[in-house]
Amino acid sequence: MVRMACPNLGEEEKLAVCNVLDSGMIASGSVVKKFEEEFASYCGAEYGIATTSGTTALEIALKSVGIGPGDKVLTTAFSFIASTNAIIYAGAVPEFLDIKKETFNINEEEIETKLAQDSSIKAILVVHLYGRPCNMESIMRVAHKYGVKVIEDCAQAHGASFMGKKVGTFGDAAAFSFYPTKNMTTGEGGMVLTSKEEVAEKASLLINHGMKVRYHHEIIGYNYRMTNIAAAIGLCQLKKLEDNNRKRIRNAQYYIENMINTKLILPELVEGHVYHQFTIRVLERKREELCSYLDEKQIGYSIFYPLSIPEQKCYEGYHFLNEYPNVDEIKQEVLSLPIHPLLTGQDLKEVINAINAF
Ligand SMILES: *Cc1c(COP(=O)(O)O)cnc(C)c1O
Repeated sequence: MVRMACPNLGEEEKLAVCNVLDSGMIASGSVVKKFEEEFASYCGAEYGIATTSGTTALEIALKSVGIGPGDKVLTTAFSFIASTNAIIYAGAVPEFLDIKKETFNINEEEIETKLAQDSSIKAILVVHLYGRPCNMESIMRVAHKYGVKVIEDCAQAHGASFMGKKVGTFGDAAAFSFYPTKNMTTGEGGMVLTSKEEVAEKASLLINHGMKVRYHHEIIGYNYRMTNIAAAIGLCQLKKLEDNNRKRIRNAQYYIENMINTKLILPELVEGHVYHQFTIRVLERKREELCSYLDEKQIGYSIFYPLSIPEQKCYEGYHFLNEYPNVDEIKQEVLSLPIHPLLTGQDLKEVINAINAF
């Protein structure tokens, strides 16, 4: 069986967790602080605020830049549900844009049209889907022109960069996830990054019941604190991130050089992409057939995502527009193949042989 995902955990993580357990300081403390500093510094941001998940990090990022009830937030119609749920948790109203078929990311050219039409939009939440960075040069230029905030969902893009600058450092705030299938993990966990002092301050308050001085609560907050146990794993994982990303990129290159199948469109090799997923498009409505074939060959795969966000059942009552022709096409074509750093040469060959034989 070639597995779809496999967290790369070893003796370092075990030892680090044991050290935390032995210390008796297992909740949020100095290890979390160290992880926040090292992760922020690795990305090139001033501040890191660790949270319980990527989802809570997104919610806190939005609230910390000042998004609240009734505010409109522009986002992509094609992502994991958390990107939009976070907007709803903040009491804000999502407005969706279609994607570009080549990048699977929000169509940045449509952002300006939308902002020009609707001056009540307060922010843009972009997602660097599958590890491919959005065109942040264009997005930030338009955002500045119209005075809207930018939040980056980097849950799938740890270490990815656009024009040499790491994602998570372009917008007003960014959110990362450390779920086990992501490019690095803490079990469950997340992080808000920002280089704005006031945003960092608000985020730190929000994740800890609005408390700076013990039992003095300045605002109504939450308990979204990361534990020292999780942060200890995160510190080890951060050290391996570059190497793991290099392996993902190398695997992607190998697939692209060796997969020859005219019924498929392969992802592009672009600078700064960290291949959280290697997502192909299966043309001529042959995806179901390919899935059965991969099942037979015991090769893992996944479909991210079978539905657009606005058409999800949970949003029935919201009556979102659902006219996103590229998403409607792509959702029926996408198939993600194993790309994680622990794949062996034999695994890669098995995947290539199956794809070419299909
Ligand atoms: C995983 C993911 C999240 C949520 O992260 P969790 O840690 O699972 O809460 C948000 N956005 C995207 C794009 C993701 O892939």
